[in-house]
This record gives sequence, C-alpha cells and structure tokens, in this order.
Amino acid sequence: MDAPLDRRRAYKPGDTVPISGVYSAVHLEHREPHEVVAVRGEEFPLCRVCQAEVTFHMEHLVPHMTADFDLTGPPPETLKRKPRARAAGKGKE
Ligand SMILES: [Zn+2]
Repeated sequence: MDAPLDRRRAYKPGDTVPISGVYSAVHLEHREPHEVVAVRGEEFPLCRVCQAEVTFHMEHLVPHMTADFDLTGPPPETLKRKPRARAAGKGKE
C-alpha cells in the first residue's frame, strides 16, 4: 500500500514525485518560490543554483490524463455509431 500523502511534506531533489500535480519550488534565497508541474514517478530535480537546497511542496493535485477514469476506459460506443440519420430536417416518408 502506498504511504499516505502528506501535503505539508517537503520533497528534495532525487525524491520521487508521489503524485502528479503542481508543486511550489522553494529555493535558498536566490529566487522567489515558483510553481512547477511534476508528474508521478519522475524525480524532483536539483536546482542549477542552490543545488540540493531546493525543496518542493505540493500545491494542488492534477490527475494525469491517463489516470482519469473517463479518459482511460474503452473507446465509447458513440464513436462507432453512425452519425444521426440524415433525414433530420426532411419530412416524414
Ligand atoms: Zn535554487
């Protein structure tokens, strides 16, 4: 079972992104915190300037498109269905 998510946890470079979403990257003095998108399974990167001093904090979760229930099921039958009868607009036969 996965460890429970702790939204207040700080992630460090090299940690694995636990869940896709928007994270704030907090640097050591040289830059204001800013938001980044991280995808589950990726590693949080080192900062070019403050190296391993950067930390990442979960802001809000954004499910990856492949993790969305409605977007991962079998192709909807409606796509295979023929377009509506072209008779629309014509009188009854
Ligand atoms: Zn930095």
